[in-house]
Amino acid sequence: MSSFPTSTVLGYPRIGPRRELKRALESYWSGRSTRADLDRVGAGLRERTWRRLAELGLDGLPSNTFSLYDQVLDTAVLLGAVPERYRDAADPYFAMARGTEGLAPLRMTKWFDTNYHYIVPEIGPDTVFKLDASKPLGEVREARALGFETRPVVVGPVTFLLLGSALDRLDEVLGCYEELLAALAAEGVAWVQLDEPALVGDRTPGELAAVRAAYERLGSAAARPGLFVASYFGDLGESLPVLAGTPVEAIGVDLVRGGVPVADLTGKTVVAGVVSGRDVWRTSPGRALAALDAVRAARVVVSTSCSLLHVPYSLAGEPGLEPELRGRLAFAEEKVAEVVALAAAHAAARASARASARASARAFARASTHALGSAPGVLPGDDQPSVALPPEPSPSQERSPYAVRAAAQAAHLRLPPLPTTTIGSFPQTGELRAARAAVAAGTLSQAGYERRVEAEIERVIRVQERLGLDVLVHGEPERNDMVQYFAEHLDGFAVTTNGWVQSYGSRCTRPPILHGDVARPEPITVRWAGYAQSLTSQPVKGMLTGPVTIVAWSFVRDDLPLRDVVLQVADAIGQEVRDLEAAGLSIIQVDEPALRELLPLRRSAQAEYLEWAVAAYRRATSGASERTQIHTHLCYSDADQILAAIDGLDADVTTIESARSGARILGAVSAFGRGLGPGVYDIHSPRVPSAEEVESLLRRTVEALPVERVWVNPDCGLKTRTYEEVEASLANVVTATRRLRSAL
Ligand code: GLN
Ligand code: ZN
Repeated sequence: MSSFPTSTVLGYPRIGPRRELKRALESYWSGRSTRADLDRVGAGLRERTWRRLAELGLDGLPSNTFSLYDQVLDTAVLLGAVPERYRDAADPYFAMARGTEGLAPLRMTKWFDTNYHYIVPEIGPDTVFKLDASKPLGEVREARALGFETRPVVVGPVTFLLLGSALDRLDEVLGCYEELLAALAAEGVAWVQLDEPALVGDRTPGELAAVRAAYERLGSAAARPGLFVASYFGDLGESLPVLAGTPVEAIGVDLVRGGVPVADLTGKTVVAGVVSGRDVWRTSPGRALAALDAVRAARVVVSTSCSLLHVPYSLAGEPGLEPELRGRLAFAEEKVAEVVALAAAHAAARASARASARASARAFARASTHALGSAPGVLPGDDQPSVALPPEPSPSQERSPYAVRAAAQAAHLRLPPLPTTTIGSFPQTGELRAARAAVAAGTLSQAGYERRVEAEIERVIRVQERLGLDVLVHGEPERNDMVQYFAEHLDGFAVTTNGWVQSYGSRCTRPPILHGDVARPEPITVRWAGYAQSLTSQPVKGMLTGPVTIVAWSFVRDDLPLRDVVLQVADAIGQEVRDLEAAGLSIIQVDEPALRELLPLRRSAQAEYLEWAVAAYRRATSGASERTQIHTHLCYSDADQILAAIDGLDADVTTIESARSGARILGAVSAFGRGLGPGVYDIHSPRVPSAEEVESLLRRTVEALPVERVWVNPDCGLKTRTYEEVEASLANVVTATRRLRSAL
């Protein structure tokens, strides 16, 4: 078996440095181009990636990390797990990913603790596993034709089956993996990477036994490439000795989030993830080299802690960043250069027994400066730029008990039973996006832009008045994104121009970079919310993003504990809460849709996280007077693990997705004892619900919950819908509510 390359990355971004894949996908989906056009764009992006990685000096190039939609969906197709109902679709792959006219898509959910979403494999009694290795084999051949030998990357059997809740099908699936290994060996492939991120979570003894069985069996396959099992997003813990006891030749460990392995790995190659794939900071060479040095293994290979899928392509796309900040950053290309430089420095240190860590750090600095072509004098070092100490958190006060607040709010707001409202955003029109682009291009003045935003707010208010909604919103027309908008208005954040990261399919986000102490130089939303309230006598609900969500959807400084960073953001949001209140808003919603996303993968760490996350939320909202009604919003139904935490937020009203999850969530949240708005229709679909449908859902709700606590609202914000859909749907919601009210 040939030895593993000296440096590698576990995966690479694939959307294209200018989101070329997004455009190609959307053009294909809308029928403006053919599947062949789409495949040409894909091939171009793969070629570009392999060439760039080779140019940067990377030794081990991965393949099959490209995907037209999602790597878990690719694995389902690889194993033949395509549900029958999609097989006759014009394009079964995209039918599973996005649905068709008459067919709902497969479920989608978040990939471990990231903001990347994968397609959940649907494995049932009818699933017949059957290998279709055309994609990985195709990419190996395609790379070879360009002169590159690659290591195909495939989601491993245990992770795949755990994601599909079907670990009992391991035997069948392993048959497919054996065939795959044989096909790759016949193709002359030296190494294959099987991704097993599920092994960094808590695994039962039964699951650990499955890991052992799987890799014993694959390891003893007659003809196969070298087996590299990659883990990431944390420490392998009890899975490590299990893997180490199987015949796999290489094990990938995340040395950024996890510790240096203590298990005996003297017979193995350890692919050491010392360059973080989850953040945008330059790697500290001293720390990385020390970690590499501490690994006791037959061979140590330098790598990233996970796929670079989760970071933007290159700093080259960001000429506008402050030089001081830029000097601290590394995106995917820069991280590859770091991997290469660290491999050289590590090898040099090994070669010379006398070489000190200092000498290797210097070698790293030389090599990475060379690779990146950065100006002389900008050498990465261990010294982090000095950062001011975080401001003393303001003493946190507690709100009065709910009963007192509820009475004060009822007297002040005088709302009817079953009050109707929405979650915040109204349709984001093309004109608004064009106006923002025009401001950026300098062809529209700030004042001109603000007039357009005001006109849109007025339209949203009038629509809601006409529909007869009780609690109005301003519609969020000024926001490109619920996190980026706040980042643009807070100190301590930078925003990027091209720093796109794939969220799912063709969807990308540009996470802001939280790099310094967070402060709010001036009010952010008060101008718009205040304007909206000035237009109407109905109560308007102010709309803020919560501290956990702002941090979860940003790249965050790593020199302070996450908790302290979140508390700083909480204080800034708390100031905004008080200013909104002073501007006459009597209802303020603080959204926390990412509360669950940051939940640690290991149960042992969850309670501590939830405690400070809830404390941060309460700190942001506890400055509100008792007659100000605080709402919160969460957009998922699988909240079981964090129900107590949601209750702990102590919001006066909680709106939550429920149209798709049904009665289950009602039972779960009914214990809160405060206001609740389980969504009455799914905003993810263009379908307009009938008044009868909404009415029957509402009936079910008031049977499960005390009627005086029930609110009526859609599942989530309306920004991705059209005005036509929104007006028709909300009209039916109001009709249904009135029918029910008259029966009370
Ligand atoms: N207020 C936001 C909106 O309506 C909430 C979005 C969300 O839940 N993700 O768009
Ligand atoms: Zn939502």
